[in-house]
Amino acid sequence: MSTSRGHHPIQVFKFGGTSVATAERIRRVVELVQAVEEAVRRVVVVSALGGVTDELIRAIDEALARTGAHRDMLEALRQRHAAAADALATPDEREALGTTLGECWQDLGELLDGVYLLRECTRRTRDAIVGMGERASAPLVAAAFRAAGEQALALDARTLIRTDATFGAANVLFDETNRLIQERFQELPPDQIAVVTGFIAATEGGVTTTLGRSGSDYTATILGGALRAERVIIWTDVDGVLSADPRIVPEAFPIARLSYSEAAEMAYFGANVLHPRTMRPAEVHGIPLAIKNTLNPDAPGTLISAETESTDLRVKAISTIRDVAVVMLEGTGLLGVPGIAARVFGALADRTINVLMISQASSEHSICLVVRTSDADAAVEALQTAFQAEVDRGDVSSVYALPACAIVSAVGDQMRHQPGLAGRMFSTLGRSGVNVLAIAQGAAETNISAVVHDDEVEQAVRALHEAFPLARLRVHVCLIGTGRVGKKLLDIMAAQAPELLENMHMNLRLVGLANSTQMVWDEEGLPLNDALTSLEGGEPTDLEGLVETLAQSRLERLIVVDATASSDVALCYPTLMEHGIGIVTPNKRANTLDMAFYERLRRAVRRRHVSYRYETTVGAGLPVMSTLRDLLRSGDRIQRIEGVFSGTLAYIFNCLDEGRSFSEIVHEAHALGYTEPDPRDDLKGEDVARKLLILAREMGLHVERRDIAVEALVPSSMMEDAIDLFLENLKNVDAHWRERVEAAARQDKRLRYVGRIEDGQLSVGVRAVEAHSPFARLRGTENAIVFTTARYHTMPMVVQGPGAGPDVTAAGLLADLIQAAERMP
Ligand code: ADP
Ligand code: ASP
Ligand code: MG
Repeated sequence: MSTSRGHHPIQVFKFGGTSVATAERIRRVVELVQAVEEAVRRVVVVSALGGVTDELIRAIDEALARTGAHRDMLEALRQRHAAAADALATPDEREALGTTLGECWQDLGELLDGVYLLRECTRRTRDAIVGMGERASAPLVAAAFRAAGEQALALDARTLIRTDATFGAANVLFDETNRLIQERFQELPPDQIAVVTGFIAATEGGVTTTLGRSGSDYTATILGGALRAERVIIWTDVDGVLSADPRIVPEAFPIARLSYSEAAEMAYFGANVLHPRTMRPAEVHGIPLAIKNTLNPDAPGTLISAETESTDLRVKAISTIRDVAVVMLEGTGLLGVPGIAARVFGALADRTINVLMISQASSEHSICLVVRTSDADAAVEALQTAFQAEVDRGDVSSVYALPACAIVSAVGDQMRHQPGLAGRMFSTLGRSGVNVLAIAQGAAETNISAVVHDDEVEQAVRALHEAFPLARLRVHVCLIGTGRVGKKLLDIMAAQAPELLENMHMNLRLVGLANSTQMVWDEEGLPLNDALTSLEGGEPTDLEGLVETLAQSRLERLIVVDATASSDVALCYPTLMEHGIGIVTPNKRANTLDMAFYERLRRAVRRRHVSYRYETTVGAGLPVMSTLRDLLRSGDRIQRIEGVFSGTLAYIFNCLDEGRSFSEIVHEAHALGYTEPDPRDDLKGEDVARKLLILAREMGLHVERRDIAVEALVPSSMMEDAIDLFLENLKNVDAHWRERVEAAARQDKRLRYVGRIEDGQLSVGVRAVEAHSPFARLRGTENAIVFTTARYHTMPMVVQGPGAGPDVTAAGLLADLIQAAERMP
């Protein structure tokens, strides 16, 4: 045989039950393996066809119960495999394949009849029966490969994997096993695909054993280890190892990378996507392990290797073991007595009872063990016997089992560096009303486990999946206002959502949407990219009703984005905040009503720890509020804030510099949509006054709107006219502005509309600024805000850039929304 085969890199592919459930799925398996690059030597491990192992176990139960149904079950299995064989094998192979399968059914029939007759099924017989599914699937899959033109050969793992006689979960004897595997594969040509039975093995004497449920995963790494494979790929029916059992937590997501120990810990604590021992041979030989989805092969899957991901996610996953019982050994005489734990373990080990977890219960007068429900009675009995003397003396008051419990575990290597995780875990469980019966932290501190009542386990897993950042931080958003900014926000939310999910584990969910006429509410989430359409089917807007819905909803991290300019909406903030709802807004109203209202908002924020963010109220997307806040928090003293705060007015004065007339510029800006619908809202200076008020209050100044001196750009006599008349009369002020602009120019100055806070005084109006000042050089709708502070004294700090427009405002809103969400509990 070829001598170069040792140089071929080897890959092991394991296909689970669902991947080989039907002839069609098996063809897919063939295609996946055929797609592997040519130089790779391919080893395939298969499980029984989906559901077959469970069916075999049921057949044993039926035989034990002597219902006779085991014969029908056998017949059904025979037919199912025969149909698959017909669909997969080439005509000239069908007979041989039929003979091979026939031998399996012959054996199975005899074994089940034996159970039926004897009314007994030893562990040894049980292994011989439940392993039959793999004995049948491997020849089938090998035939499918040959039908697709590959050289393929079915191998019975009982000739390759040597174990002890611990039936049901046999221990692999690695020296012998590795030798057998290496020798066998030496004989095979490198381009031959070996299709190996998963799950089963044999003792020295050739008696069939199994590696435990899901054991085919282990078979794959045993082979991979012996053959020094470059990779083992476990193909299954989910997109990788998920952050929780998807049957309990539908939004569980695939974990990109896990260390061997994390994966083993997860598997041990119940994540049945992998057999708990699978990681051992892989770790010993440093073989990376990939978990992929046969039904979605393009998904990246999970990579398990020695390196853990450099991530700040401390908890990687939540897993659970159900069907367990807590065994309690109670008594004041146990306190501080050495050797008790050893005796407990000894007594249970004698009866081969596996202790899943041991912990001190909340009272220190007891020892608490967790075992499988099926072992509970035996465990109580064993302890009663072992501690008989203590019971007689009264040192042990009771030994009993609490049935119907479950273990819930948080798993992650990085957990050990993180104090307070246990606290977080238990407070989360407490808050969601789950009663914790016992707790334990593994010695390696890579998991924390809690025992809960089985009927509360789903609640517990979901609550923990939400509570740790492992869970994609679910953020519920209700957007009020679908004007230009609101619409734009929906656009960028839809565009950014995948990125946020991937990089920040943040799942933005739009649960409510309202404008002045229609509103919709859907806790499952409205489609982000088509939200406005869903509005069409909504109800007529009723702000009070919406606030009521928001307040009643128990959604976590619920944030209202108020993209209106309405005082009515602003007046709802305190109520929303009192219900733990965060607010993100470019609406200046709330912060510019009277001080009493402002203080109410502040109190609500403090009391409920809700996020309230309004960065976009000043300078749109420019970091004005956050700059001010950072300066103040870091102990700087603000001497003066001065700025051009209105993009619209900046535009008007820029145009005046070019010699154009005031009325012409306003008409044009109005037509282009640069101004508010009624341009007087800009020309009055009210907008700038509000921005200044917000800044001043942020600085801690106690100011009302009336305390600000505001210069309007048009006389008050024109303020009450109808808009058309107003626009028509606007030319009457052209001469006034012409003169002021020219007077300033003669002194080499420019007119700008400036807001200023200095010495507790706020003023807004037209100033003649030096031609070289930052304000004079602004272009278009640019804003510039100059902070002069104790630290930024000789050279003030300037924040400058486009300060208006739906795009930058919506972007700023999304940034605020993200920060708000991150800070909410
Ligand atoms: P296979 O037949 O391919 O071996 P299994 O049924 O043994 O597949 O394992 C995959 C199943 O494990 C998934 O369909 C899922 O329901 C379940 N499961 C439980 N916990 C997890 C988890 N944390 N990640 C992925 N799957 C899990
Ligand atoms: N067929 C066995 C089981 O169902 C082994 C496996 O699928 O891994 O447990
Ligand atoms: Mg499995």
